[in-house]
Amino acid sequence: MHSQLAKEILERFLRYVVIDTMSDEEAVVTKRPSTDGQWDLLNLLADELKGMGITDLEVDEHGVVIARIPSNIDHAVPTVAFMAHVDTADDVNGNGVKPRVIEAYDGKDIPLNETYTLLAEENPELANYIGQTLIVTDGTTLLGSDDKAGVAEIMSIARHLASNPQIKHGVVEFIFTSDEETGAGMDSFPYEKISCDYCYTIDGGKRYEIESECFNAATVKVHFSGVSYHLGAARGRLVNALTMASFFINALPQAESPEATDGRYGYYCAQNISGTSTDVNLTLYLRDFDLDQLNRRIEALRSLAKTAEALYPHGKVAVDAKHVYYNMALVAKNKPFAMDNLLDAGKELGMELKSELIRGGTDGARMANERNIPCPNIFTGGHNLHSRFEWAALPAMEDAARLILKIIEVGSR
Ligand SMILES: [Zn+2]
Repeated sequence: MHSQLAKEILERFLRYVVIDTMSDEEAVVTKRPSTDGQWDLLNLLADELKGMGITDLEVDEHGVVIARIPSNIDHAVPTVAFMAHVDTADDVNGNGVKPRVIEAYDGKDIPLNETYTLLAEENPELANYIGQTLIVTDGTTLLGSDDKAGVAEIMSIARHLASNPQIKHGVVEFIFTSDEETGAGMDSFPYEKISCDYCYTIDGGKRYEIESECFNAATVKVHFSGVSYHLGAARGRLVNALTMASFFINALPQAESPEATDGRYGYYCAQNISGTSTDVNLTLYLRDFDLDQLNRRIEALRSLAKTAEALYPHGKVAVDAKHVYYNMALVAKNKPFAMDNLLDAGKELGMELKSELIRGGTDGARMANERNIPCPNIFTGGHNLHSRFEWAALPAMEDAARLILKIIEVGSR
């Protein structure tokens, strides 16, 4: 039998995933949110929060809903926030979702439709949920647990807190964002409207997985200027920018490429090149968990540019490096209570939380960097995200919600 909490999460999840909220990477440049369906869900959430009696509520024009439940304790504690995004990816169709609930999963393969089957062998996580409730797709779209599982979990806890004033807590903030999947979600984020000291994104996957570290990232633009000359009389005069650029790329250590690294190892990646024999523009992505290592690579590129200039006299190589985001662990170190409260909450619930590294960035990392707000990421119970084989496990979703509630409790002592 489902607990009251599990029932509520499932009911909310099934209602939210059928709202078309696929975001649009191109439209987002001029329109926030990029698609109207995202407003449908944002407005629905705002109405539901109001219906819970939550009055401290704001719907920002860029497509962010912020709600707060005031403190009901007499000592001051840091304000905690929980954040999830309403949009879905477009890797496969994210609209027209028809979720299917499987009660008492039997441990076997799950046919989604006549063509596609979710194979138990390829999804060993499924074996943890035999006899339990799963939600799958009909094989034609993704499911949208990324991140409507997070939305449903946060909304269920908001309702639980609002209707149980005997639960003691400090100020709790709930944030629902749009266009996360486009990568531009935080570009016009209304920081001035939030008041949290620390935040958690509920936007992960597998049960008990949490993420508190992401890459430091730099984008490096390298410009090669050659010297053009009539090819018939080029000897000793022509300097070919393409030759210089290919020397430069070939000199990058292959052992420090994305395809040769994992875990904590960082890399150089040539991402884009365009040009002619006189002018070449090269863009490189540098990534590392350790900021010193990232900066070492930037310096290495600068020396390499000097070497290229020495090897190709009169050729010029200009290096322009920009840090794009930083490992959120740097911020978390200044405000250790974000991780401490999360780990304590897990311990008290008997959940063995496992910290994973994100070989990328997150909205939480942006928030951490831009406002010094630590923002670890918590599992949602969704699997195979951005795929027609996406599935969610209700017990894991319930655990995510229980963890949210316990973090509130731990942070209010
Ligand atoms: Zn997500």
